Parts: sequence; structure tokens; C-alpha cells
Amino acid sequence: MLDSNTGLSDKSAIDIEKIRRDFPVLSQTVHGKPLVYLDNGATTHKPQCVIERVRKFDAEEYGTVRRGSYKMSEQATLRYEEARQKVAEFFGTPDRKEIVFTSGTTQAINLVAYSYGRKFVNSGDEIIISNIEHHANTVPWQVLCEEKGAKLKVIPVNDDGELVMEEYEKLLSDKTRIVAVNHISNALGTINPVKEIIRKGHEAGAKVLIDGAQSSPHMKVDVKDLDCDFYTFSGHKMYAPSGIGGLYGKMDVWESMVPYVTGGDMIMQVTLEKTTYAKPPARFEAGTPPITQVIGMGAAIDYITGIGMDNIFEYETSLLEYGTGLLQEIDGLRIIGNAKEKASIISFVLDAAHPHDVGSMLDQDGIAVRGGHHCAQPTMIRFGVPATTRASMTFYNKHEELDVLAESIRKVIKLFS
Ligand SMILES: *Cc1c(COP(=O)(O)O)cnc(C)c1O
Repeated sequence: MLDSNTGLSDKSAIDIEKIRRDFPVLSQTVHGKPLVYLDNGATTHKPQCVIERVRKFDAEEYGTVRRGSYKMSEQATLRYEEARQKVAEFFGTPDRKEIVFTSGTTQAINLVAYSYGRKFVNSGDEIIISNIEHHANTVPWQVLCEEKGAKLKVIPVNDDGELVMEEYEKLLSDKTRIVAVNHISNALGTINPVKEIIRKGHEAGAKVLIDGAQSSPHMKVDVKDLDCDFYTFSGHKMYAPSGIGGLYGKMDVWESMVPYVTGGDMIMQVTLEKTTYAKPPARFEAGTPPITQVIGMGAAIDYITGIGMDNIFEYETSLLEYGTGLLQEIDGLRIIGNAKEKASIISFVLDAAHPHDVGSMLDQDGIAVRGGHHCAQPTMIRFGVPATTRASMTFYNKHEELDVLAESIRKVIKLFS
């Protein structure tokens, strides 16, 4: 049977009340109202099992990794590598050595721009991104191009916020060294046809990086099926602690690359004259890593795989459809980004008020949304708006919370008109 309100079958694998009890923060009130947290595109909250795993690790199991010859360090190293294995399997590779930890997607893309780009991109070469990228997948390539005398090319988007694939094909040539696009746009929610983008990029002889910051928490990802060369993620958007993230890379590509940060732990041998580098992933993880955060990342992956990524995606799609329906009915509200393939992000503008004011007004009703350019100014320019208000949902949100959002938006419109 379908619930007339939510369109979800009673067989939906998501037991929303049970899930909400797993997230202590969700029972808070803000300005005397129940918290309605709709800024999951910026960062997500942690379930109790992640909070508890991190606490227990710090209280009882903490130690440095990859160096001590004593029990505590050996155990911590074991736990650390177990977490890497969980990340590897989550993204669909059996080989944990293909996973390199960084502080998140920003550092992951910088790593590739530096360690791959500075070695393989030369004057006259080209790099392709899209018009709906996060600044983290824009600026590192601009810097690289400037330094090397290479050229940055941009895949345009149509008015619905979808990449124009015919234009992409025209941009590709034997000069293309790197194609870097997001799987899901954080500003619009567009799900890009990355498998096709990767295949075409490879046909042109380029390496392809997928910015997975928005996709990894919300859908099943299989890097081997996609055949991408790099796939990035950010723990703090995946119900894990902040300060941890990383990327998958194909082993042969990793092996061809030079270190990004140098120092301890990334070497094979150091004499004062010369250093030989360790094998991946250690080559790209100089210094003491965020050990506790990695353990938290492993716990977060256990939690979401327990729910099931396909279940999460299905449930979030029902939130998207329900919320889109509600917001479309509001006069003076325009949704920016209406791609056919879309994740649970709704970006919108009101005729009556600026997104920053909308955000503060909604906050009075306990609603957390982001008002701004979402680190995607070229996207805002493309759609002719300075900023948007963005509601980004995840599997711990309820359909009723979108009713609260719609009602609060109506109040804002009334107040400002
Ligand atoms: C959040 C985000 C980033 C940056 O991630 P950090 O965790 O801040 O490094 C990059 N790309 C997309 C699509 C994002 O949503």
C-alpha cells in the first residue's frame, strides 16, 4: 500500500522513527521549535554508534599508527587499516591500498591536481570541468592551468541544470589530460551521467576524477563499474567526524604519481642525499593521520551499509518528490535546478526576499538551511542569481519536516511582500 502523503510503500526499508532515535542531535529544539535540519549538503550529523565508537577508541584503544613496536600501536594500526578496508569495500574495490585518506574532498582534489597534474599536464594541454562544480573542483585546476600554461574548458549546463553532453564531446580532444566533474552537484542536486563522462574521457585518453562529496552519502557507488581513475569523499558529509575523507584511485595511476606532502611515513628510505618513496597509499599520507576520525569513518560506513544505500536513495527520492511538490505550489518561489536525474537537494529563490534573509527567518522556526552561493559561484552566475536557499535532505529527515519548511516559507513571503 502507498501512503497518500509520502508516496512511500509501508514496506519502505526505512523505519524513520527508529533512525531518528539513532541521531541524538535531532531531538534538540532551536528558538523553542523542534530542530528541522535541512543542511545535510553542507555537513551531516552523527549517529550514536559513531559517537560511541570514537569515544571508546579514544578512551581505550588509541595509539599511533604504523610506527610503534608495542601492542597499543599495533592494535590501533590494525583498526586503522580495517577502517580503510571498509571504505574500499563501500566504494566497490577489494584493494584497500587504492584508498588514500585526506582531510576531505578539497584536499583530495588538490592532491590529484598536484601529484598527477604537476607531473602529467604540460603547456597546451587541456583540463575539462563543468559549469556546476564546487570551488574545490574548480580552483585547483585553475591554479594548475595557470602554472603550466594549460587550458581549462567548461561543460555548459542547460536551464534545468543538466550537463550538455554534446558540448562535452566537442570539448574532448587528444589535448585533454584530465576531466573532473562532480557526481552530484551540491548547489542544484543534479546527478550527472558520470559513467558516460568517464567512458568518453577515456576514449580521448584523459584521466577522469569524480568529485563524490555529495553522492557517496546518498547512493550506491561502484568505482570499478564506473571505471573512474579517482573518486573523492568527505567523512563529515557521510555521518562521520570532520577532518577525514579521501579518495579512491586506480593502483597503476597511484603508482605513477609523485607525493603531494612530504615528510614522515611516506618514504621507503631517506639518506641526506636522496629519498625513495613508499608505495601507495603511504606515499600520499605523510605525517600522523587523523587516527580517531578514520575509526569514526569506519563506524559510519557500517551504519549506512546496515541501512542499505539503495534503501537510502529510494527514501530520499520520496523526500525530494514530496518537497518539490510542496514548494512548486508556492507563488513567488522558483526552484533552481530541475534535472530529471536529481538527488534530494532543493535550491530555490523567492521574489520577495534575499536568500540570506530567508535563512535567518527560517532559523526562527528551527529550520536549518543554507543561504548563499554554496561554494559554486559560476553556477550562480549561470542561473543569474547571486545566491539560493538550499534545503538538502537525508534519510533521517521526515516528510512532515518539509511541511514545516513550506509553511515557514509562506510566512516569509507574507512578511516581505
Ligand atoms: C562539500 C563539497 C566539496 C568540498 O568538500 P570538503 O569536505 O569541504 O573538502 C567539494 N565538492 C562538493 C560537490 C561538495 O559538496
